[in-house]
Amino acid sequence: MKDCIFCKIAAGELPSKKAYEDEQVLAFYDIHPQAPVHILIIPKTHCASGAAEITPENSAVVARCFEVAAKLAGELGVAGGFRIVTNNGAKAGQTVPHLHFHLLAGRDLHLTMG
Ligand code: 5GP
Ligand code: ZN
Repeated sequence: MKDCIFCKIAAGELPSKKAYEDEQVLAFYDIHPQAPVHILIIPKTHCASGAAEITPENSAVVARCFEVAAKLAGELGVAGGFRIVTNNGAKAGQTVPHLHFHLLAGRDLHLTMG
């Protein structure tokens, strides 16, 4: 989608520090990390602006995003303690309207929902 920062990152038009990439999914390190491990996992195509737009037609890539999260958590040695977050809408703190999942780990996460 035009003027979407994550579409541009997925297309390689903007730089990112990649953690994983395949035909459907890109994972890259968040520019303002909220935890020692903070990776954004996105569908490469702009199939939804946020989780409210997940449907039977586009949910396969959502499953793929979670597979990638599990794989990365294992590779990074945090499989025993990580969190996957998606913010939907400005009221929930969403700032980039391209479906994405935050993979957070490496600090004590059990006391907060953030
Ligand atoms: P949201 O607030 O929409 O749930 O998450 C958007 C995330 O994207 C934020 O954590 C923010 O730090 C990150 N972000 C925004 N712009 C960029 C960018 O250009 N590069 C990277 N790597 N992360 C970005
Ligand atoms: Zn996009």
